[in-house]
Amino acid sequence: MCGIVGIITDSEISIKNDLLKSLKRLEYRGYDSVGYADVQGNMEKDVGEISKFLDTIKDSKTSCAISHTRWATHGGVTKINSHPHWDCKKNIFTVHNGIIENYQELKKELSGKGHVFITETDSEVISHFFEEELKSKSMVEAIKNFIKRIEGTYAILLIEKDKNRIYAIKKDSPLVLGLAKDRFYLASDIYAFSDTTNKAIFFEDGEFAIIDPNKYTFYDSKGKELKKGIYEFTWAISQEESVQDYPHYMIKEIHEQPISTQRLINSLDGEQHDKITKIANLVKNSKRVVFTAAGSSYYASLLGIYFLNRVGVNAHTLIASEFHNFMLVDKDTLFIAISQSGETMDVVAATKWARERGAKIVSLVNVPHSTLQRMSDISLEIHAGPEICVAATKTFTNQVVALLYLSFLLGFSVNMQTIPKKIDYVIRENEDSIKKMANELYEKKDIYIIGRGLSYPPSREMALKLKEISYIHAEGMMGGELKHGTIALIEPGTPVIALIPGKDFDMYSNAKEVEARGARVITIANMMDSDFKIDVTINDGKFAILSVIIGQLLTYYIARKKGLPIDKPRNLAKSVTVK
Ligand code: GLU
Repeated sequence: MCGIVGIITDSEISIKNDLLKSLKRLEYRGYDSVGYADVQGNMEKDVGEISKFLDTIKDSKTSCAISHTRWATHGGVTKINSHPHWDCKKNIFTVHNGIIENYQELKKELSGKGHVFITETDSEVISHFFEEELKSKSMVEAIKNFIKRIEGTYAILLIEKDKNRIYAIKKDSPLVLGLAKDRFYLASDIYAFSDTTNKAIFFEDGEFAIIDPNKYTFYDSKGKELKKGIYEFTWAISQEESVQDYPHYMIKEIHEQPISTQRLINSLDGEQHDKITKIANLVKNSKRVVFTAAGSSYYASLLGIYFLNRVGVNAHTLIASEFHNFMLVDKDTLFIAISQSGETMDVVAATKWARERGAKIVSLVNVPHSTLQRMSDISLEIHAGPEICVAATKTFTNQVVALLYLSFLLGFSVNMQTIPKKIDYVIRENEDSIKKMANELYEKKDIYIIGRGLSYPPSREMALKLKEISYIHAEGMMGGELKHGTIALIEPGTPVIALIPGKDFDMYSNAKEVEARGARVITIANMMDSDFKIDVTINDGKFAILSVIIGQLLTYYIARKKGLPIDKPRNLAKSVTVK
């Protein structure tokens, strides 16, 4: 899943202030290790985050360089396994995002020809493959052969020592060329250069390009030259990109939610209104609606199907990585894929699968022009703005708001306009008591969250937040299901957060059942004596949004109390572009 960035210019750039600054904007894609190589043959790499790396290296100037921030798939998180990788003569440097599936076979073959491998990675074969090919072929022929021979996924940047040129190859991992005034960028996504230019050309699968300081040429996998369109995007919202006065992006992004939901609602009322109306018509005219997503987006989709089922739509959702195991789609199916980045490999794969079976494809993305958006018949943008913290907060909420709006168009009764104000109120009213609760809970090993109906998906999302950011084992479950097994784990003092919207007496009883067994019951409800108060009396979807926001704050303050790396939790990356 890593991020890659290359820059080429006919003047000079600084490794620290241009290349690595740009790479830092992709750090949410992976932060196990970092490295770069330039055309003079200089190369540095190390484990750890980019800011630490910047402190250890000297700045230098170059006209052409490539860089990588890694989320390891093959081979431990070590300096030698970090990218770039090189060939035997240290003439060819490559960075790679993806997985070379047949790397063992290729490694054996190339070792037989005398190549010496020094890392445990799959990616190292790339440099040696090209070293071998270039003995007898031109670079274009070598790339064509590479595309034929390699199984797996890749976005690759390759440079040769003393040649001012970058080669870029793409299959199933994202890659984009950024066109700035005095330089070209090659990057995993537009975010790498969205502060510098809004002009980009997206690589499609099987394409490659040769980038010189003043010109670029795209080719298809057979080596035929391609004419590609330039996209102009409107995405950089610069004041949202800095952490401003907040200690972490996570809390900044939680607090942004009144604004980000308002922005989305305005756009659904305005420039995206036609699109969402078309989607509503597609829902009406389809036999079934099937969602797919992963992580937080999956829980947003789970809420989506609760909303849609309430207005009589036959709607289902499936985790993207398991999607192909179920024969749920055909030409009468409306398939709705949800992904913040629009690059999540599992979601993209499930979408391809659905498209091949004739389903109509709709997507909800945050990053414009992402792979998923480009694969869709209609794609809605959730307008949350850049989200830097690895954990989804404002993007989850905006996904739910978009689905609520869709359901509203189909007859679900909800006043969308009050959402931003209610969010603002919930944060202001509860933040202090959440901080206190975090002090009580931070040493707990397990937390259970129970909900029913529209408050069941929030229980799952809250548990995911607690796991990924505050490293506490948490389970979100249906209140009614607890007594069928999990209640055996309730001991005196075990925290159970009960989501009790309106007059949900069944939910209230479930809370009482665990309380009777000694659980420390924490209530989120519209009741005088609840621990956290949500001021909604009817269950129209807002309770779900607001309870998740309480969960986001609780997670944040627990993690802070524990001194954890909140914006970059261990082992995770934001944009999951491997299967
Ligand atoms: N498979 C490669 C590795 O483990 C690349 C992973 C990535 O995309 O960051 O080094």
